[in-house]
Order: sequence, then C-alpha cells, then structure tokens
Amino acid sequence: MSDEPTVFGRIVSGEIPVEVLAETERVLAFADIAPQAPIHILIIPKETTYRDVTELAAGDPGLLAEIVSVAKDLATRLADGDYRLVFNNGAAAGQTVFHVHAHLLAGGLEEHTLGA
Ligand code: AMP
Repeated sequence: MSDEPTVFGRIVSGEIPVEVLAETERVLAFADIAPQAPIHILIIPKETTYRDVTELAAGDPGLLAEIVSVAKDLATRLADGDYRLVFNNGAAAGQTVFHVHAHLLAGGLEEHTLGA
C-alpha cells in the first residue's frame, strides 16, 4: 500500500472515530457511512498490509476466514443470520478504499437480489 493512510487506516488508528460493532484482536467492524441495505457493515483487518481480498486470500487466508466468522456473528446478532458479503476488487469494480474490507449486507435483502 502507499505510505498515505487510507480512511480505514485512520479508523484503525483511532484518528477517525467510529462506533465499533464487533472487534477481535485482528478485525474491526463498523457501520458503512452510506448504507446500501438495512444492515450495511464494513469488516476490515486492523493491519494495512492487504489492498483487496485477492491479496488477503493469498497472504493470510486465516485472517480472511476470521472476517467471514465476524460477518456470520454480526448477521446472527443483528438480523436473521443470513447475509451477503461483498468485496469490491479494483477501481473498475467499484473499490474506492484500498484497504481490504468486506461489505456485510443483511436484513431485507429480498429487494436487492443479485442475478435471476
Ligand atoms: P468500496 O467502494 O468497496 O471501496 O467501499 C468503501 C466504503 O467505505 C463505501 O461504502 C463508503 O461508504 C465507506 N466509507 C468511507 N468512509 C467511511 C467512514 N468514515 N466510515 C464508514 N464508512 C465509510
């Protein structure tokens, strides 16, 4: 990553305050500032090493699994346990923050069905 901290790096360091919805030693979750679903939470690793999920999966699959586990816990706590996990990879795919993050979408997703 570049030396310039991303907005998520600044959240991890505490420079930008957020309401923490879930936290482990390595992972942080907080609400997306521009929600696209009734529940829209960002789940990020605290470390700034990985730009996107492709890099994360190759470099630390256990950390990726931890993000999925936190997603399931949040969906169970805040919705009916079902959830959608979205990773935008690359600017052309809509990625704007180059600190890997999962978008956890849950609650009322029937209106936002992909495909079909
Ligand atoms: P992406 O487009 O996949 O890179 O997602 C970046 C997401 O970060 C967007 O959905 C933004 O709404 C969200 N976002 C940007 N700044 C903040 C912030 N300070 N707090 C919470 N969410 C943010």
